[in-house]
Amino acid sequence: MTGNITFTMIKPKAMENGNMGKIIAQIIEGGFKIKALKLTTLTKEQAMEFYAVHKERPFYDGLTDFMSSGPIVAAILEKENAIKAYRDFIGATNPADAAEGTIRANYGTSIEANAVHGSDSDENAQIEAGFFFSKREWV
Ligand code: GDP
Repeated sequence: MTGNITFTMIKPKAMENGNMGKIIAQIIEGGFKIKALKLTTLTKEQAMEFYAVHKERPFYDGLTDFMSSGPIVAAILEKENAIKAYRDFIGATNPADAAEGTIRANYGTSIEANAVHGSDSDENAQIEAGFFFSKREWV
C-alpha cells in the first residue's frame, strides 16, 4: 500500500528565474492537491540537515550552498500514489534527461538547479513534511 502524500520544494534558481507561479500552476493542473504551502529561505545548516542522506556525495557542499542561496517554496502535496506520480511528473534528476513537458524539463537549468525536489519514499515524505510544517499548517 502506497501513500497519498509527497513533499516538494521549488529550488532557489527556479524562484530567481520567476517560475514560482508557473510551477505551482503546473502542479495543480497535474491533479496534485496542495495540503500545505510556505515561502521561506533555508540556512546552510538547515539545508545540510535536509540533505544529510547525501553528505558523503561530492556535490553535498555545493548543493547545500545552492539550496540556502535564496528563497524556496515548500509544499505538501496529495494525490493517489503520490510519490511515484510526482516523480514521474517532475522528470529525471538531470533536466537534460527529463521527459518533455515535465517540470524539470521545463524549468530546470542544471542537474543541481533542477527546479524542484520530490520525495523518494513515503517515509521520507513524512520526515520532509515534518521538517517544514507542523500539523496545524496542513489544510
Ligand atoms: P532526486 O531524488 O531526483 O532529487 O535526486 P537525488 O536524491 O539523487 O539528489 C538530490 C539532489 O541533489 C538533486 O535533486 C540535485 O539537485 C542534486 N544532485 C544530484 N546529483 C547531482 C550531481 O551529480 N551533481 C550536482 N551538482 N548535484 C546533484
